[in-house]
Amino acid sequence: MSTLSPIDRRHFLRSSALTAAATVGSSLLPHSLFASSAPAAVPTPLTPFDYNAVTFNPGIHDDQLHQTHSVLMNLADDRLLKPFRVRSGQPAPGEDMGGWYDAYAFCPGHTFGQWLSALSRYYAITGDVATKQKISSLVQSFNAHQTSDPQGTFFRDNRFTGYITEKLNCGLIDAYTYGQMPEAAEALTLLTRRAARYLPEKALSRAEQSARPHKDVTYTWDETYTLSENYFLAWQRTRDQRYHDLGVKYLYDGFFKPLAAGDNPLPGKHAYSHLNSLNSAAQAYLALNDPTYLQAAVNGFELIRQQSFATGGWGPDEAFVVPGQGNLARSLTKTHNSFETPCGAYGEFKLTRTLLAITRNPAYGDEMERVMVNTILGARPLSQDGASFYYSDYNPKGKRVYHPDLWPCCSGTITQIAADYRISTYMHDPQGIYVNLYIPSTVRWQHGNASIELSQQSAFPLDEHIRFHVTASQPTRFALNLRIPAWAGDGASITINGKPAGTPAKAGTFATIDRTWSSNDRVELTLPLTLRLQPVDPETPKTVALMRGPLVLFVLGDPQALAEKTLLAAERTSSAEWLIQTPTGDVHLRPFTNIQDQQYRTYTDLI
Ligand SMILES: [Zn+2]
Repeated sequence: MSTLSPIDRRHFLRSSALTAAATVGSSLLPHSLFASSAPAAVPTPLTPFDYNAVTFNPGIHDDQLHQTHSVLMNLADDRLLKPFRVRSGQPAPGEDMGGWYDAYAFCPGHTFGQWLSALSRYYAITGDVATKQKISSLVQSFNAHQTSDPQGTFFRDNRFTGYITEKLNCGLIDAYTYGQMPEAAEALTLLTRRAARYLPEKALSRAEQSARPHKDVTYTWDETYTLSENYFLAWQRTRDQRYHDLGVKYLYDGFFKPLAAGDNPLPGKHAYSHLNSLNSAAQAYLALNDPTYLQAAVNGFELIRQQSFATGGWGPDEAFVVPGQGNLARSLTKTHNSFETPCGAYGEFKLTRTLLAITRNPAYGDEMERVMVNTILGARPLSQDGASFYYSDYNPKGKRVYHPDLWPCCSGTITQIAADYRISTYMHDPQGIYVNLYIPSTVRWQHGNASIELSQQSAFPLDEHIRFHVTASQPTRFALNLRIPAWAGDGASITINGKPAGTPAKAGTFATIDRTWSSNDRVELTLPLTLRLQPVDPETPKTVALMRGPLVLFVLGDPQALAEKTLLAAERTSSAEWLIQTPTGDVHLRPFTNIQDQQYRTYTDLI
């Protein structure tokens, strides 16, 4: 059964535990990372590139960006403003949006901030004039609404004051920074004053909300414990101390402190919002320099990895499970709601990007890649009437379907993550560049006096060769760091200008090529895409997913138990299709991105 060893999982735990110890523990270097007297040699966090520094080649990532952007551009401002205006007794022309969005629906106006954020990021990427006009008119209309509702009546009897405020905070700071709208800072000041009347005095868990008077159970689901992230970001961008103080005020210490101490407070908790709260912990670390919060984020994410599916998704029925009891395997037949995909992937992208930047542990890139290629890139497109992809389905009779409700939470996050693939692909430090994701694209930057362009071409993760091309205004020395995924085993290799690079391409590290680069230098990275099996959880070793590199190959058709050797004998029949021969005939396999309406299964029981 050697093929069953879950190498990804074990490797991640080993390497992330080491990193946590190395960066956080007091006995191992470099603890000076946390001291103000840090020596110059100690690495500082990697820096992401600006949205417009990276150009993607046409393909699946930018299709999602342009498709979601077009939906947003076609939503009339009056419809978007309507729940805010109705709830505060203002004239409210325009049609209702429907679904979760309307004035007295489940979560009024909840995605307004996320859409403003996505439009602002799109503007930062493209400089599109019509998008800038849309951002400008939305900020102005929103501020006119706020000025006419100084008491924040909109929030009265609102289930989700914390949730909606947090999304609005994000939209306004993104409109301020990426949309280049100074008025958005005033809008944030006013919003902060209005929401303060209705927000609790601290971040409240669901249990704490249940213990207070509430109309019905849905009024105990607010997510005030995710507020800190965007308050810290607001402080970072505006330097207004009030936001720093609010970031501190809403720290979810009842969750973060046990995590930092090595406990597991996850079981039973709402999955997406608690992963998302770790983004508050990560930003708290950056803002406060308190290693407790980094430890909470590192440990929290590690515990989530221990209960994730082969796809990288987690949280069946939106809850974390008790580990060690085979609960992930049990969820397969209990539910079709296996992973809240756009929200979960978006939260995970933010967290793994920040933790990668802080720790330089490439295992965070492995996880980001896995959740990207197996979940969010295969989401059904957001439709103009609000039909949205929500859950990935790992039931043996799985289907890729829209959520029954229009405009759910995931209709907000899919628009944001679509913009964020490019800022997750490359990072840099003074010595050079880190390539985190293998997506056909070009990144441009200034290294000293030189203008550098690095392009990558590949059909990864379908094909194993990734080719890089350098353009430099003058020969320039810098380090090119390539993520070698843990699943690559001993098989990764690198050539420079057709010759072996002499650089170790060790799995689970960044391979560093530090040299003087000239125009037309070429690098080829080969990542071996061998087939392997990964059990759903340690207690259920005979229920396995077939994996090839980061990709899960989903088996089309009705469930049937198969021999291990049958699955591992899958043959590629076209660029994104594989075939196995079973006792009942030929069966096809595809990546999630290539499944349409077919029934599929993620896991197969072994005979
Ligand atoms: Zn969602």
